Amino acid sequence: MAEQVLKDLAKFQMNGSGWTFHSIVALDIHTVGYEPLSGSSWVPLPKFLASKKAIINMKNTDNHCFKWCIVRALNPVEKKPDRITKHLRKQAVSLNFKGIEFPMSLQAIDKFERLNTEISVNVFGYDNISKVYPLRISKFKRHKEIDLMLLENKHYCLVKNLSRLMSMQTSKHHGEIVICRRCLNHFPNEKALEKHEENCQNHDAIKIVLPEEGSILEFKNHKHSMRMPIVVYADFESFTKPIDSCQPDPDRSFTKAYQQHEPSGFCFHIKCLDKSSEQILFTKTREEENVADIFVDILEKEIDRVWSSEVKEMIFPKMAGQSLKKQESAGFARNHLKW
Ligand SMILES: [Zn+2]
Repeated sequence: MAEQVLKDLAKFQMNGSGWTFHSIVALDIHTVGYEPLSGSSWVPLPKFLASKKAIINMKNTDNHCFKWCIVRALNPVEKKPDRITKHLRKQAVSLNFKGIEFPMSLQAIDKFERLNTEISVNVFGYDNISKVYPLRISKFKRHKEIDLMLLENKHYCLVKNLSRLMSMQTSKHHGEIVICRRCLNHFPNEKALEKHEENCQNHDAIKIVLPEEGSILEFKNHKHSMRMPIVVYADFESFTKPIDSCQPDPDRSFTKAYQQHEPSGFCFHIKCLDKSSEQILFTKTREEENVADIFVDILEKEIDRVWSSEVKEMIFPKMAGQSLKKQESAGFARNHLKW
């Protein structure tokens, strides 16, 4: 610390300010304790989680809850799986925890995965609002994939059935589902999940926070909005004609085009600032009529008519009186204000 101060002083005096250091009158040092997320002492499962019967809460009296969860995941038992027995301690010997400190931090799981190359570990968090959300999703999908939950930022529990645990926040779907650990979306089967994961693995794990029920999203800054001088509302009517196409491959995703929309008529309406034009209606009467072409023709003519009668007088009279010639300003508007 003193060294750094002296260094900075020397640098300051060398800058040629002409000032000379005399003495330090007082020095305040403020410190904040840094507590990284890590798992250690036992905490009871929140009632809601306990009711799902999808989590094993190892009854540890030390800081090694992470270790006991992993060992239990690899050595499941039917009766009292949360007990740390002599047998479980023996089974722990097969794992490599060299250089890992307990309580185990989330960051240290990278090291654990490097030392134990058959295991990948995912960790989830839980709160009353977001429910279950991903905290750390492994980069690997290994033969032994273990899901843990970190409670109160200090205690790891073993998730033995993620599908059942997630059933509380995955709609009213009944029956077995598979979960994408990264985004916690659910899928009906492994095949659907695999397809989704091709995209999802390119993104970081996410915690989805939905707005409260009944909340409304609204636009308030109307002063930031810009009014369009001309708006066209158009609607087409069409016949549908069936299309003959070859049979798609059912093993791949496909879009089957089965009908073509053949326009038979249209209706449009032009709104110019506060004035509305009359509705223009057209219905095809002869087979050779191309409705789309007719629509464009009539629309162009109508826009020209509205433009010359309404917009030119309403928007540009001031500009016309300035250095720009009237015709130039109208040309500018034509090029820049598109409908
Ligand atoms: Zn996903």
